[in-house]
Amino acid sequence: MKITFLGTADVRPRIDAYVSATMIEVGDAVYLLDAGAPVSDLMLRYGRRPDELRAVFTTHAHNDHVDGLLQLFSHCIHIYPKASYEVFMTEEPIARAFCDCIGTLYHMDFPKERLHVHIAAEGVVYDDGVLRATYIPVAYNEGPPHFAILIEAEGRRVLFTGDMSQDLKDDDFPRVAYECETDLIVCEYAHTLIDRLDPCLKQCRTRMLAFNHYAGYRHEELAAIVNSGKYAFPIRALRDGDVIELNGTEER
Ligand SMILES: [Zn+2]
Repeated sequence: MKITFLGTADVRPRIDAYVSATMIEVGDAVYLLDAGAPVSDLMLRYGRRPDELRAVFTTHAHNDHVDGLLQLFSHCIHIYPKASYEVFMTEEPIARAFCDCIGTLYHMDFPKERLHVHIAAEGVVYDDGVLRATYIPVAYNEGPPHFAILIEAEGRRVLFTGDMSQDLKDDDFPRVAYECETDLIVCEYAHTLIDRLDPCLKQCRTRMLAFNHYAGYRHEELAAIVNSGKYAFPIRALRDGDVIELNGTEER
């Protein structure tokens, strides 16, 4: 499994980083986890075409995680007419608005026979025999649904925390991180603070943890955590274009 971090920034505009989008490759199969803009261009930059996609999983419907879907859908109408993939969104009105927007822009019905938009619910939402995606609800204050997503492929397990609440009350950090062994946890750092995260990280059973989705001004704060050496696993702060490869044949 090869994971390319296309965008690692939070919602603020940046000159050196894009918002949340991650590409996952398992052999020839390509998937996205979150689809912040300009995800279509970024896929090409890192060697894959949008019509190679099998599925797109979004953690929640905030703009910095989904607005690249409009570009992706547009390209798949005119540039890649054979593209066909599954898209998992989390809120029905927003999914409908995106499909309606494409239909209005191009004076056509949304091509739902090729681009299959689903509303994700808790549990396994996708399994094509190559990759399995499990949605796990997290709290993120009040309001619309937010999910962590567990990705399993080639005997490897990667947990994306999705966006969590600032104070991490009510066990907001996904408990699966404590309950099962993961090869990698990709942890957001847009909302949480390290003193809240610290007791959660201490319970994680993972081989590696990587922070993404953080503001540029938090680089130094993250460097201190990365270099602290206080956790049982290595930690890194991700930058756009970083790649993590998990070898499927290695023993866990
Ligand atoms: Zn976010």
